[in-house]
Amino acid sequence: MKLITIAIDGHSSCGKSTMAKDLAKEIGYIYIDTGAMYRAVTLYALQNGLISEAGIDEDALQQHMPDIMITFQLNEETGRPDTYLNGVCVERDIRTMEVSKFVSPIATLGFVREAMVDLQRLMGEAKGVIMDGRDIGTVVFPDAELKIFVTASADVRAKRRYDELIAKGETCSLDEIRANVIERDRIDSTRAISPLRQAEDAIVLDNSNMTIPEQKAWLLEQYHKVAGQ
Ligand code: C5P
Repeated sequence: MKLITIAIDGHSSCGKSTMAKDLAKEIGYIYIDTGAMYRAVTLYALQNGLISEAGIDEDALQQHMPDIMITFQLNEETGRPDTYLNGVCVERDIRTMEVSKFVSPIATLGFVREAMVDLQRLMGEAKGVIMDGRDIGTVVFPDAELKIFVTASADVRAKRRYDELIAKGETCSLDEIRANVIERDRIDSTRAISPLRQAEDAIVLDNSNMTIPEQKAWLLEQYHKVAGQ
C-alpha cells in the first residue's frame, strides 16, 4: 500500500474525528485532530485572562503564541491520541461548552492560523497521516491524495454532540449545543482566512443516516481505492 495523506474536513460535530481515529487505528496511520489544536489555544487564552467580556485581547494573545506548546500523545487505554498544552493533558478541558463558545472567533485570527498550519504541516510531512479539520484539503495539504468532506443535518450533529457531553458527565442543553454548532459553522464558513469550504477534489459524505460502523467501512473503502493504486 502506498503511504498517503488523508484530509477530512467538514462541519462541526459531524463525526469527522470518530471516523478519522478509527481509520488511523485500523491502518496504523497517525491521527491529528486540528480542531483540538485551536481548542487548546482557546483554553490557553481563557486560562490566562486573554478573553473577557470585552472580547479577545488579540495583541496579548499574539505575544503569548510562542509560549503555547501543543503536542499529542497516545493514550494507551483508549488507543487514541490525547491533546497536551504545555505538557499538561487537556483532552477533557478543551471539549467544554466554554471552549466551544470561543474557539471559532479564536480560529479566525490570522496569527493563530499561521502558527497552527505550520505545526500541522510539520506533523504531517512524512505522510501516513489522517488530519481532520476545516481547511486541511484546501490549505494545509492541498495535495492530499484522499480528501473527504463530511456533513450531516444540524439536528443530527447537535444530538451527537449532546450525547457525547452527557456521557462525559457535563450538564448542557440540546438547544444551546444546536445554537453553538450552527454559529461555529457560520463563523467558520464566512471568515476571511481559510474559510471552511469543500475542496474541488473532495468526496462528499453526508452521514446523517449512517451508523458509525457504516461510516468506518465507507472510509476504509475510499482509502483502499486510493492507497491501493
Ligand atoms: O473540530 P472541532 O469542532 O473540535 O473544531 C473546533 C473549532 O476549531 C472549529 O469550530 C473551527 O472554528 C476551528 N477549526 C478551524 N480549522 C481547523 C480545525 C478547527 O478553524 N482546521
